[in-house]
Amino acid sequence: MFLGSFLSAFFHLLPPFQESCRVTKHIFVTGGVVSSLGKGLTSASIAMLLESRGLRVKMQKLDPYINVDPGTMSPYQHGEVYVLDDGSETDLDLGHYERFTTTHLTRQSNYTTGQIYQSVINKERRGEFLGKTVQVIPHITNEIKEVVLQLDDTDTDVVITEIGGTVGDIESLPFLEAIRQIPLERGRENCMFIHLTLVPFLKAAGELKTKPTQHSVGILRQIGIQPDILVCRTERSLDTSDREKIALFCNVPLHSVIEERDKDFSIYEVPLSLQANKIDDLILKQLNLPAASANLEGWHDILHRLRNPEHEVSIALVGKYAEHRDAYKSIYEALDHGGIANYTQVRVQPIKSEEIEQNGAEKTLAGFDALIVPGGFGERGVEGKVEAIRYARERNLPFLGICLGMQCAVIDFARNVAGLSEAHSTEFFRDTPHPVICLMEEQEGVTDKGGTMRLGSQPALLSDGSRSRAAYGVSDISERHRHRYEFNGGYRKQLEEAGLLIAGTHPEKSLVEIVEVAEHPWFVAVQFHPEFKSKPTAAHPLFAGLVAAAVTHHTGVK
Ligand code: GLN
Repeated sequence: MFLGSFLSAFFHLLPPFQESCRVTKHIFVTGGVVSSLGKGLTSASIAMLLESRGLRVKMQKLDPYINVDPGTMSPYQHGEVYVLDDGSETDLDLGHYERFTTTHLTRQSNYTTGQIYQSVINKERRGEFLGKTVQVIPHITNEIKEVVLQLDDTDTDVVITEIGGTVGDIESLPFLEAIRQIPLERGRENCMFIHLTLVPFLKAAGELKTKPTQHSVGILRQIGIQPDILVCRTERSLDTSDREKIALFCNVPLHSVIEERDKDFSIYEVPLSLQANKIDDLILKQLNLPAASANLEGWHDILHRLRNPEHEVSIALVGKYAEHRDAYKSIYEALDHGGIANYTQVRVQPIKSEEIEQNGAEKTLAGFDALIVPGGFGERGVEGKVEAIRYARERNLPFLGICLGMQCAVIDFARNVAGLSEAHSTEFFRDTPHPVICLMEEQEGVTDKGGTMRLGSQPALLSDGSRSRAAYGVSDISERHRHRYEFNGGYRKQLEEAGLLIAGTHPEKSLVEIVEVAEHPWFVAVQFHPEFKSKPTAAHPLFAGLVAAAVTHHTGVK
């Protein structure tokens, strides 16, 4: 009796949705007509809107390719490899998830066909299928269902699962079949299908065309999936007759045809435009989720700052894949965040490092307010990076070096300040007389390429008086890594004596994580990837610091 009244009093204290939402709800996001429609952004925006209504959201992406993870794929093929705290190397869409929401991502947040098959084949080898013929249906589809449903727990109101690829691809079929089956287990009322599609404008006809959307939904319906909401990417506004046609032919209510106009200004407009079209209300209603009213003040503030910059700076990004924006996705985003924090419009100019080798740093970098040299692998363009960094160091141009960018900064300093003219990294010159960057001890003998680098979050201790320490405001930090080579501790003393400041080290292993040049307005180079932890609502301190230094450089006012 006493326990009963105690429990009921306790439940009354909980927010209403946490009491009623015993079942984790599932939203599946698919894409149709063409790839690159922004499924990741749309999924992240929906998650952000649901969080703003007080719901607890988890996110996941299922990728239909056979690589076990994108870690071994070329940036030209796949864009950036986004690294999580736990060291998993994932699809760049997970970067959107983390930037837009507070959801905690782990190894369970990204699966590929390769991983699914690997797990099923391992089970088969262990005899777990008891002699049965192992087949796509049910064994592969069961494995897919398992990786989705493992995210259910009492602390999660909604799981959003994005299916990579485009509906109609052979590769995505097992994933679509698996998500078709999930409502049979969890109840249709607890699941939702959102289909992102393209409604192209045909110039010659002067009108929007709905047929590709009808076809793509047709394919989904053949598989047995009836989308609940259609998000229509379009460059022109859909009029009522377009929406009516889509609704009728695709078998969805008119109010579930949602327009998502192209955003020329900023990707951070996407959640607000989806909200203006009431997508959050539709989802909450269909999934029967009681929720608070939205609080989007922080998000409006971001857009206000983006629209009302007080300064403008131009930053050179010197990298091997400069022409390929997706290869440095999180860096572009983090620079925007640095701009938001400083009320500054940041213009980023990508420059191929080989261009500096051909034309010289002076000619290429004159007029910029800062330089950023990102991470990378392989020898091509390395000398151009070292030359660019030398220019920034000698001309007091604010500089941020990331991973390979940091290693190149050490090479420049060793060669041009400490007098070790042949200094190099053993990644590029195995027999250099001065291996200031060398293979990490733990990497010796490692031959497998996949998932074997030093990966994920590692602690570092910042030195008092350094720019990094001032920027972070604390001395203990944790940042994400992805590398095999490191600052060679054997050269530490010599380089310090020549004036290099060791601003951050691993607390136990004495690995050098940050170097700085003290008599320089902003010369900070880090072995880790700060770009993975920057958000529009909370710029990473090193990106905020770089943009602030670029503004000072531009205006000449300290
Ligand atoms: N290639 C370098 C290494 O493996 C740098 C890696 C990176 O920039 N992510 O250490």
